[in-house]
Amino acid sequence: MKEFAYQRATAVHDALSAVAADTGARYLGGGTNLVDLMKNGVEEPTRLVDVRRLPLDGVRDAPDGGLVIGATTTNSDAAAHPEVRRRFPALSQAVLAGASGQLRNMATVGGNLLQRTRCGYFTDLSRPCNKRVPGSGCAAITGAHHNHAVLGHSEHCAATHPSDMAVALAAFDAVVRYQTLDGAGEIPLSRFYPPVGDRPDRETALPPGALITAVVLPGAAVSPRSRYRKVRERASYAFATVSVAAALDIHDGIVTHARIALGGVASHPWRAEAAEAGLRGTRPTAERLRICAEEALSDAKPLRDNAYKVTLARNLIQAVLSELTGTEMDR
Ligand code: SF4
Repeated sequence: MKEFAYQRATAVHDALSAVAADTGARYLGGGTNLVDLMKNGVEEPTRLVDVRRLPLDGVRDAPDGGLVIGATTTNSDAAAHPEVRRRFPALSQAVLAGASGQLRNMATVGGNLLQRTRCGYFTDLSRPCNKRVPGSGCAAITGAHHNHAVLGHSEHCAATHPSDMAVALAAFDAVVRYQTLDGAGEIPLSRFYPPVGDRPDRETALPPGALITAVVLPGAAVSPRSRYRKVRERASYAFATVSVAAALDIHDGIVTHARIALGGVASHPWRAEAAEAGLRGTRPTAERLRICAEEALSDAKPLRDNAYKVTLARNLIQAVLSELTGTEMDR
């Protein structure tokens, strides 16, 4: 591992100043992804600015009835918080599905959003990867890509985003708060991860040097019915092959609001907006749910070896919606 400096920040301004003064500096949260990448040489920061002692942890009520989750809140604390479990159950379920207890105790909410892809070529320094070395090529497009994206990818990169938490946050229309030396800002999660296009190395819309300070769950997104389900390749913890977060409001048997986000299928949490629109104002019959699942994947462009994900995602959407609505699916 390359030598680096370490400093612990106790004030947000100090952390921002330290990163602004050293172009090779990185913020350190739980380190559950960054330190792994440092060990294999993918990341080579000159300085780590530890932000875990900053006063950014905890979950509190937002004025609109939502919740504000501080960026250094551990994944364990976020998942276990009674108001998260009561008002945003899919978020708690997503975090619990994401990693072992040991990792959840270390990993932070802010760091979770900044996880980097687990594409095997990204961490193999001997292979071309546009995300790691822009312009070098993409080994996955013609190589091993059975677990890669079927939506929103490009010829330059087909990696998927590994976060389970981010998928649930997308379904709840969460907003990411950040701070820079120039002031504070907010980015809706729907715009937090830019489209891949020809710049897969650009992974977030954060300004340079920005520090995530919180994630806001809007009160308007509160839904008593929400669910996160994940299909993975083994029974123990693994990144999602496909996952679905859905939140529904149902009144008098009619779906009034629907939010559906998919994980494991794109470079970022994928909101299935056409499917949501197709569900709103309708009675959730088995046929309606089947059509919704079709619509959610209508833009899918599978690679040579991952068309199975399209079928898997359709089936998982139907299963989750069936569970939330109490609709029995046809066999
Ligand atoms: Fe790199 Fe993306 Fe290609 Fe994987 S899919 S090798 S991360 S460019």
